[in-house]
Amino acid sequence: MAFPLEPLLDTVSERIIAASDELTALDSAIGDADHGLNMKRGFEAVQAERSNILAKPPGEALKAIGMTLVMKVGGASGPLYGTLFMTLGKELPAEPTVADAGRALQAAVLALKARGKAEIGNKTMLDVLSPVANHLASGQASLASTRALAAECAQATVPLKAARGRASFLGERSIGHMDPGARSSEIMIAAICDVLEQGT
Ligand code: ADP
Ligand code: MG
Repeated sequence: MAFPLEPLLDTVSERIIAASDELTALDSAIGDADHGLNMKRGFEAVQAERSNILAKPPGEALKAIGMTLVMKVGGASGPLYGTLFMTLGKELPAEPTVADAGRALQAAVLALKARGKAEIGNKTMLDVLSPVANHLASGQASLASTRALAAECAQATVPLKAARGRASFLGERSIGHMDPGARSSEIMIAAICDVLEQGT
């Protein structure tokens, strides 16, 4: 699998920035109405560093994206997505197969779980990232099946009761709303699948 860093970086940034209002609306239902703004600020900062990031080899570029998110995003999602990208940068080999990408994402999910002290089913971004990582690592994944799984898993956070993050303060009242971080993870995964599909 080639690693088209430039279109990946730009498409993920564009889609997240464009989804800012939607993500903020989801966070206004079960959080503090800032997830879209946090993510927009983070990816605008990544875009401001674009030329420095693109000059690096893919692993170092992913680490730089993670560092930027940690530094620029207020809120829980900055350090969490930062940890995800930094670990991906550390674990992804230079010419990754789909299964390599899955194993790197599995390692990143473990780091994210440790950082946020969260488990699968707590109604967080992990509920999308973890099944997608396992699917990719299985060696059976297609771009279409990966995109569909991410969408299904984000949707499946709706009936869950939040056990981590601000939404957990709502208890039962968090039920019936999609988790904002699960949706931002779905958007990033769909963006990556779309870019890789264009390259095939
Ligand atoms: P904040 O909750 O600080 O306002 P954001 O609104 O930007 O930060 O991000 C909220 C999202 O972060 C949630 O929807 C959830 O997916 C994710 N999240 C929050 N806490 C955790 C955690 N401990 N582990 C994993 N993900 C978490
Ligand atoms: Mg929030």
